[in-house]
Amino acid sequence: MVVGVLALQGSFNEHIAVLKRLGVKGVEVRKPEQLLNVSSLIIPGGESTTMAKLAELHNLFPALREFVQMGKPVWGTCAGLIFLANRATGQKTGGQKLIGGLDCTVHRNFFGSQIQSFETELPIPQVVAEEGGPPSFRAVFIRAPAILDVGPDVEVLADIPLSAIETINSNPAIPKEEDSTESGKKVIVAVKQGNLLATAFHPELTADTRWHSYFLKMVPEIEEGTSDIVSTSTSN
Ligand code: GLN
Repeated sequence: MVVGVLALQGSFNEHIAVLKRLGVKGVEVRKPEQLLNVSSLIIPGGESTTMAKLAELHNLFPALREFVQMGKPVWGTCAGLIFLANRATGQKTGGQKLIGGLDCTVHRNFFGSQIQSFETELPIPQVVAEEGGPPSFRAVFIRAPAILDVGPDVEVLADIPLSAIETINSNPAIPKEEDSTESGKKVIVAVKQGNLLATAFHPELTADTRWHSYFLKMVPEIEEGTSDIVSTSTSN
């Protein structure tokens, strides 16, 4: 068994490269039957409406939903998070098809447009508890979503105080709450719910592999070290 990476669109090559650095084989998934050969799945960042259209074209939705419902580990990053959410709101969301499974409401393009993309040091205590390393993670947000609410089974792994994000205040598209800065209101940007992991940012675009390692620990076959480890001795 190997880790599948949904390869319809977006940053799938970058995820496969990080997996390789960790000594794990990642394979591109474009067809429903390819999901039968992977133990787990990463859904990359990109553009979630385009991804949904391509998934529809390739008849992937039933197989993706079954994969999630079977309890196989699935990690959605950015557009992948939107794809996994039960509910999506925000600009241009009307009628967008989702895989669902993750009990949350996600707001597309929450932080603004492309030029309002940003990086920030994000405290990630649960991941640090598992993986060690520095207490925060340099998180890259590109036209990123944010999670507005979560159901009772969802564990919050990282959030950001709105007051820390300058672009929020200058972005007219984001509805302002009267006391959002005073009350220290936060939006959620990383969650775990059973077999599902989701991050609003892009760990595959950094040199820090802790989120990938964290996800791989959710994959039983890899944790047991049965068959997924490939040799990286010849690569650098
Ligand atoms: N804004 C994109 C969307 O709504 C997601 C951006 C990303 O994946 N970097 O699909």
